[in-house]
Amino acid sequence: MPDINCCQICGEAAPPIEGYCGEITGYRLVRDPWATAPSFLDGNIHFSCLEGSDKRTQFFDEFTHLVQAGHEEIDSLDGSFPPLTRMGLGMFQIFSGAECHIFQSEVADRWMVVKKSGPWFALNYSQLQEITKGNPPKSPSDVTQYRLPVDLGNEIHDQSLTDLLAALGVEDRYTAVVDLTPVDYRFVDYYAPKFLLDYVVRAPLPLPEEARAFLANHAETYVPITFDDEEGP
Ligand SMILES: [Zn+2]
Repeated sequence: MPDINCCQICGEAAPPIEGYCGEITGYRLVRDPWATAPSFLDGNIHFSCLEGSDKRTQFFDEFTHLVQAGHEEIDSLDGSFPPLTRMGLGMFQIFSGAECHIFQSEVADRWMVVKKSGPWFALNYSQLQEITKGNPPKSPSDVTQYRLPVDLGNEIHDQSLTDLLAALGVEDRYTAVVDLTPVDYRFVDYYAPKFLLDYVVRAPLPLPEEARAFLANHAETYVPITFDDEEGP
């Protein structure tokens, strides 16, 4: 099984970029359709690899189940008892289209768009409002930390996103994002002893047109969830 920092499909370096390369953490207990022996996914996935994989439908079924599930029992890898328990995202479906399904949280202003070809996009309320204004929603400007498979040396301080991906030999996995010019990429920090790179990428999320159209409409009548009852005096 590839290192968790590498793509679980192709095994190459996979720095996360929301909308283009995502992460499935092991505690989610999502079955890994690419592993040769029964196992759960734990690591990153290039969305270009996901869309090109003949296992993408299996992944879609498994992932959309998790999105809608609550607390549930699932079979352990070898079928032995007791079964494992996992926590789903507790969302419900609000849209089914030719290209994607859309789910909404019951407890927070959160949405999940999942393409039938596998890629997923988590959205918050401010991103929903951007869609209503006709703007492509962008990924949040959070700092991502990624452990590089190799030390890229001091040059990393001045590299563009394209340079970085080329140095890692994976620019062809990210053509959908590096073709966007300019890509909003910012180097934050690099800790050479552990190959730890901190960076920020803000890229437009490549939502299907049918998702944008539905969500723009949906936002007009959506009432944000508030927690007035929980506010103190
Ligand atoms: Zn890959």
